[in-house]
Amino acid sequence: MATKPTILAVDDDPAVSKAVTRDLRTRYGSDYRVVSTTSGEQAIEVLEELTLRDQPVALVASDQRMPGMTGIEVLAEVRRRSPDTKLLLLTAYADTDVAIKAINDIGLDYYLLKPWDPPEDRLYPVIDDLLGDWQGQHPDRSAEVRVVGHRWSDRTVETKDFLAHNHVPYRWLDVERDQEARQLIELAKATAQDLPLVLVPDGATLRTPSMIELAEALGLQTRAEQQLYDLCIVGAGPAGLAAAVYAASEGLSTVLVEREAPGGQAGTSASIENYLGFPKGLSGADLTRRAVAQASRFGAEMVLARDVIGFETRGPVRAVQLGGGTEVEARSVLIATGVSYRKLEAAGLDELGSRGVYYGATASEAVQCVGEDVVIVGAANSAGQAALNLRKYARKVVMVVRGSNLEDGMSEYLVSRIQAADNIEVRLNSQVTSAHGDGHLEVLEVCNSTTGTVEELRTSWLFVFIGAAPRTDWLDKAVARDDKGFIVTGRELMASSDSGLWPLPRAPFALESSVPGVFAAGDVRLDSMKRVASAVGEGAMSVYLVHRYLATI
Ligand SMILES: Cc1cc2nc3c(=O)[nH]c(=O)nc-3n(C[C@H](O)[C@H](O)[C@H](O)COP(=O)(O)OP(=O)(O)OC[C@H]3O[C@@H](n4cnc5c(N)ncnc54)[C@H](O)[C@@H]3O)c2cc1C
Repeated sequence: MATKPTILAVDDDPAVSKAVTRDLRTRYGSDYRVVSTTSGEQAIEVLEELTLRDQPVALVASDQRMPGMTGIEVLAEVRRRSPDTKLLLLTAYADTDVAIKAINDIGLDYYLLKPWDPPEDRLYPVIDDLLGDWQGQHPDRSAEVRVVGHRWSDRTVETKDFLAHNHVPYRWLDVERDQEARQLIELAKATAQDLPLVLVPDGATLRTPSMIELAEALGLQTRAEQQLYDLCIVGAGPAGLAAAVYAASEGLSTVLVEREAPGGQAGTSASIENYLGFPKGLSGADLTRRAVAQASRFGAEMVLARDVIGFETRGPVRAVQLGGGTEVEARSVLIATGVSYRKLEAAGLDELGSRGVYYGATASEAVQCVGEDVVIVGAANSAGQAALNLRKYARKVVMVVRGSNLEDGMSEYLVSRIQAADNIEVRLNSQVTSAHGDGHLEVLEVCNSTTGTVEELRTSWLFVFIGAAPRTDWLDKAVARDDKGFIVTGRELMASSDSGLWPLPRAPFALESSVPGVFAAGDVRLDSMKRVASAVGEGAMSVYLVHRYLATI
């Protein structure tokens, strides 16, 4: 049986130490080992011992004012030795400024002002949140689902991503490294073509399952339950999820169709730092987990692993066609399909997709890069965030940037952190020209356009962030789009030189497309801001407009 993860409490005052430990044990004792220490030095010794024994430390809660090491010094050392451990500072009002500074300096997760009585109101909600996030990042501890495959296989990566993005805990067994993996393959009499194998709790063994087979085996919803909905939302990124929460909470019968897993691009972000109300930032996975719970609580249906491939207008009904031959009918539709990453053009890259070459994703791969050299292509905020996340795990991060500076495309706060990081190297005026590797990425050739020199970088990891294109091909000519494929809405429709785009005497509502009752929100919409907050805002606003539209039919 797996050992319980540890919660470590640090306070030099014996009475306070006893009280914290008592409160933590009362609430978390059945799932966590609560260890109490009375100095920073002692806490680091305990951490070192647990790390040596490969035992996870989920949370360290430390007092700030202690003789010897201060709380922030202790937590900084914990961050260095155990990057995923959640850090909580217990502090007095006078130290608030120090605590806020520590959010930037050491990635402090939360600070709590003492005293925390009653713990039910002031301590447990904070710790529940931190431990919930930690568990989300370590789903494999109690996992019953097992994935057996090759580390560098496309299908294995796709399967692991699907499980991770759907928050299904799983245990990963690498054919090349795990004895158990080889035993399971033998037991299932599986051949190389059958990999990855997915073993689900009821005993079924799936061989190279498609995403829909996997979703069905795991009991995820893959079909709509009703004949007709008030609103069908296509895409479960921040815009779609926000719309689902508002629509369902306001009594509209709502179904959300997602081709992969909820979260969208934001779900792949390791840390969204500019979303209102989260001073430390929050990971895309945490935001998604919370949003999905909220939408489900209000009764929104979520159909997963289903690709929307077509759209039709049937009088007052809008029909959304799904891959596999089924469809969903609704009185209104919200298109929230976002954008997908552009492919980097360089010789040899296509053959290495998911075998060391990844587009726009770092959160789930980052932990695998421990001690290795990583290359990132791109110079916008998403590339900057990825670099700062990967540097916590990798030995070195090299950013390959086509332009002559970072400042043109990246927020100042990210540029300054990248410049201050001792293991991030920025190569300006540079491009990846080719990639090589036997089975997975091994070498990249990078050309400096100013000097003309070509350099070989040895790496197994390339992450690409070079802009994006809207996912709207499935709409074909049914809904007006601009020449890049972004959906034209509201006033832009009327401003278009093609005056025949809008069919009704009334003006279109703000987020309404050229088809009345079909709305667009988030990154997929022409002229949108391409941020989580704006996608969420548009998703919420679209529901108000859906109400107004439904009142007209
Ligand atoms: C790595 C990274 C970091 C980022 N960091 C930040 C940040 O810190 N702050 C910030 O404000 N913004 C950030 N962004 C941008 C932000 O994530 C996006 O602006 C936001 O996610 C847009 O939300 P959306 O709902 O419009 O679309 P998306 O998030 O793109 O979601 C669209 C969803 O639709 C689904 N879909 C697409 N086509 C179909 C189809 N045919 N059928 C069914 N489903 C479909 C997709 O699978 C996806 O889940 C980041 C983006 C990335 C990639």
